[in-house]
Amino acid sequence: MGDVAPSIARDLPWIGVRDPWAVLVSEVMLQQTQAARVIEPWRRFLETLPTVASCANAPRSTVIELWGGLGYNRRAGYLHDAARAITDEFDGRIPKDPLALRRLPGVGHYTANAVASFAFGVRVGVLDTNVGRILARAIANRPLGRAEAQRLADELLGRGDSAAHNQAMLDLGAQFCTGTPRCATCPLASRCAWRTNGGADPARRSAAVSVPQGAFAGSNRQLRGRIVATLREGPARLDVVVRRVAQPPQRVAELLATLVADGLVEHVADAVRLVGDPRELIE
Ligand code: SF4
Repeated sequence: MGDVAPSIARDLPWIGVRDPWAVLVSEVMLQQTQAARVIEPWRRFLETLPTVASCANAPRSTVIELWGGLGYNRRAGYLHDAARAITDEFDGRIPKDPLALRRLPGVGHYTANAVASFAFGVRVGVLDTNVGRILARAIANRPLGRAEAQRLADELLGRGDSAAHNQAMLDLGAQFCTGTPRCATCPLASRCAWRTNGGADPARRSAAVSVPQGAFAGSNRQLRGRIVATLREGPARLDVVVRRVAQPPQRVAELLATLVADGLVEHVADAVRLVGDPRELIE
């Protein structure tokens, strides 16, 4: 599939980057956020924390502040923990082996394989939700189990540049083989098993293909994000947080408890703050 790469390549600043830390940061950010929304936070993050050591030594509040605009703030805590684990357990060097990478907090199959492939050139298939769709639709025309999908992704690497192949698959999936596929303009259309043979969408029940999330508006996820956004401005008393997010105190307290459990927020006297935030209270 590498022959379709030139026509589908996206212009994203981390493509072609080999620095393992920059790759790890981009891949954790890309886990649940669209590429276009990752560009500026990725640049900002690496300007402030350009190395594993700088992140490991930074206060947690700095890492969470730099996560602004990405959502799913728990990933900021995981990345901070991963930097500390790399420092403590891997002598400050990001491992190239996907199995070792998966020992890091917040690093699952997708992220481990992506870092191994893009930073170190390890010949392993990168399987995200979009690639999972391509495999189920274009190649198998049936739902795939996780191990089967990974095996297929690995087999498709062939003998060429495996990182370029993986990037082409991600680009193809993100731009054409989406939830509602754009088959009319897809470069694989003439070779796609599902388009050729028809039937129910095989990606719907396939492994590695995510299902749509519930509504965001009014969700706990949205309110957690608003609480963290408030605390990015600085530590605050509980009544200030309640006023800022305009929600009942009980609900705010419950969600603050989940943020504390996730290691993102802490109580200090009668206030709450991002963990380690040394600033003054906001009003
Ligand atoms: S033709 Fe349609 S279903 Fe097949 S790979 Fe392209 S976008 Fe996906």
